Amino acid sequence: MCAQRLRADWLLAETRLCVVSAAPEAALPGYACVLAKQHVVEPFELPEPDQAEFFTDAMAAARGLAKLFAATKMNYEIHGNTIPHLHMHLFPRTARDVYVGYPNHCRVRFTRTPADLDRMGQAIRDELGARLWRGSAGQRS
Ligand SMILES: [Zn+2]
Repeated sequence: MCAQRLRADWLLAETRLCVVSAAPEAALPGYACVLAKQHVVEPFELPEPDQAEFFTDAMAAARGLAKLFAATKMNYEIHGNTIPHLHMHLFPRTARDVYVGYPNHCRVRFTRTPADLDRMGQAIRDELGARLWRGSAGQRS
């Protein structure tokens, strides 16, 4: 958050601890990123109850994307080497995606339309339900 300017029009959902963001350009059609609102580099730097809450929020977002994209498997990545601020990449993988047999290489770029991002946001917010931060529902709609 502090290291990466978050564009309001990329915001799909917000909870007490996280925002879920998706830029139009991505390595897979269903890619989204869960970012911690507080500045930590490592997940273990969050207070212990927040570690669980961050993960639960991220899993709700992942479930929404998995359903929307009929993912055969979700991929989860936490690196933080380039942007040292806690964020989790979510990649819905499908049986015929461009990376079959490999991890995500991020070599291919997909462009999502605003309508695509709206559908992703809705799917994620549906799963987050009561976990949504007040006022964040319908952020893009
Ligand atoms: Zn930060």
